[in-house]
Amino acid sequence: MAEGGMAGGLNLILLGPPGAGKGTQAKRLEERYGIAQVSTGDMLRAEVAASSPIGLQAKAIMDAGALVPDEIIIAMLAARIAKPDCARGFILDGFPRTVPQATALDAMLARLALSLKAVIELRVDDAALVARIAGRFTCATCGASYHDRFKPTRVAGTCDVCGGKQFIRRSDDNAETVAARLAAYHRQTAPILPHYRAQGKLFVVDGMAEIDQVSAEIESVLADIITKN
Ligand code: ADP
Ligand code: AMP
Repeated sequence: MAEGGMAGGLNLILLGPPGAGKGTQAKRLEERYGIAQVSTGDMLRAEVAASSPIGLQAKAIMDAGALVPDEIIIAMLAARIAKPDCARGFILDGFPRTVPQATALDAMLARLALSLKAVIELRVDDAALVARIAGRFTCATCGASYHDRFKPTRVAGTCDVCGGKQFIRRSDDNAETVAARLAAYHRQTAPILPHYRAQGKLFVVDGMAEIDQVSAEIESVLADIITKN
């Protein structure tokens, strides 16, 4: 794939509130460009499932809809992007979420002689986010993401991708926690947008559109960037 040859890799950030469609789009980008999805939320959920020291510390924070401390997240992310599957590029999904995380990422990339190619902001209204999060479920086997109304499985009870029959709903996808997560986004994460706007790397995509339309818009942003590199 030509994109894989881009100097330092196609390194992207998908930014947006919980439920904006970051995971859904990251999975598509992973497949389309052969780059790695790096979801700090998925990594933390794996730590919780393994009852690791990080997991034990993070669980209550995640269940409350608050953010896990920057030091933990930054160390976890630094180890992850140094792995070989990130060499062709990566899509950060759910990171950075605070100004200190964004600053730490800049330093990390400079140290690794890597550059960020684009930050794609998915814009979605809060009211739509609540409906998206309430109906979200994923395949327990392959992680494919679905929605009761907006993206049901083609055959009821069977994953379109792997044929799996078991599905998971996140314990933090409930009305009370969603409000806290949206508040955390507006208060702690939205302030990083000007940081990337000032770097000329921010591209805004309408996340209210249908899933395929959002993918098409992201691809058109990336096509421009790939041509220029
Ligand atoms: P995030 O990773 O940003 O939290 P997800 O990708 O998990 O968001 O999407 C949240 C829910 O909304 C999922 O159930 C997904 O199937 C659904 N969804 C994602 N994108 C759209 C869209 N453009 N329109 C309607 N529903 C969507
Ligand atoms: P997500 O899967 O991205 O919705 O994240 C789920 C939860 O994990 C969040 O509500 C936070 O508690 C925690 N989390 C994920 N990524 C981060 C991050 N970059 N910084 C702090 N907390 C995070």
